[in-house]
Amino acid sequence: MRVAGVAKRDYYEVLGVPRGASKDEIKKAYRRLAIKYHPDRNAGNKEAEEKFKEATEAYDVLIDDKKRQAYDQFGFAGVEGMAEGAGGARDFSSVFRDFEDIFGDFSGIFDSFFGGGRTRSARRDASVRRGADLRYNLEISFKDAVYGTKEEISYARRQACSKCHGTGAESGSGKKACYTCGGSGQVRRSSGFFSIASTCPTCHGEGYVIDQPCTACRGMGIVEKQQRIKVTIPSGIESGKRISIPNQGDVGPNGGPAGDLYVYITVKPHEYFQREGNDLYCIIPISITQAALGGEVYVTTLDDKKIKLKIPPGTQNGKTFRIKGEGVPFLHNPFKKGDLYIKVFVQVPSKLTSRAKDLLRELSEIQGEEIHPKPIATSELH
Ligand SMILES: [Zn+2]
Ligand SMILES: [Zn+2]
Repeated sequence: MRVAGVAKRDYYEVLGVPRGASKDEIKKAYRRLAIKYHPDRNAGNKEAEEKFKEATEAYDVLIDDKKRQAYDQFGFAGVEGMAEGAGGARDFSSVFRDFEDIFGDFSGIFDSFFGGGRTRSARRDASVRRGADLRYNLEISFKDAVYGTKEEISYARRQACSKCHGTGAESGSGKKACYTCGGSGQVRRSSGFFSIASTCPTCHGEGYVIDQPCTACRGMGIVEKQQRIKVTIPSGIESGKRISIPNQGDVGPNGGPAGDLYVYITVKPHEYFQREGNDLYCIIPISITQAALGGEVYVTTLDDKKIKLKIPPGTQNGKTFRIKGEGVPFLHNPFKKGDLYIKVFVQVPSKLTSRAKDLLRELSEIQGEEIHPKPIATSELH
């Protein structure tokens, strides 16, 4: 870090701030330089690396009241012992402590440089977790499952408290630095060039404790609230399938990402239609004369279309007709559909006028019906 015999630049000059600069000005100046010279952006550039280290050292001293006072009074000699940790390990405690404060969104890019020390990710891992996934059981109608729909659902979800905006602190009270770690979020020990840190047990790496907890969420920053959302049910869905809705599960603690919501589908049975895969099945009644003489009937499909079905003469009870493309749309290809199978049920009339009875008797005589019919082979039944 320091090369013997080379004149060191004044810390104020390094940061480009006046002697009476406020902490804010120092922080801003350092942030600007650190981002400009940070090693990832200047790979292999020795000069940039030196500038980065120089700025970091200047910041480390000027941001600390004690070190700054000593430096103002005695120059480099005043801070010589303070800047170096045990065994010559550079501490940079001020940088580590204020890391996110200084770099904000940029803090991630410094992880590699500070390698394993006090970094943003180290702090994140300590307290920020992804929220839980949630399950919602949704029962939908047979028709909605076939043709798809949008359903509004309402469920209890853990969300960031709107009163404290997820901070957990009563408005105006804020947070105070953790007494165990002094706000760094970590307890540190020196090892090698940089110091090694572990998560502070008191604040779990947060670096602060809440002064006055928010009354709405009791300091948790998270409350359980009912949430209403619209769920798109794709056409062709079946019972047991689930629809995942990303990021609509519980919100994670300390601003952690939300889990997912899984909507599990149960399809209610239909009065007339049954489904097998992408095919639909239904049974329609026809009369004995329609069955014997043939004819045309109109069948109402699941989507209320009327389709003509030709009954050929001599149609037996239980005969099944297939109507192509009138079944269930394929789940991920709604233009492709299964078929509709229509089974006929030949209805024997139970109420007959005397004229109708006479005609049937006459028919029976003409047909020469037997009193001891031969059994029908199963293979002859359709
Ligand atoms: Zn709150
Ligand atoms: Zn702490």
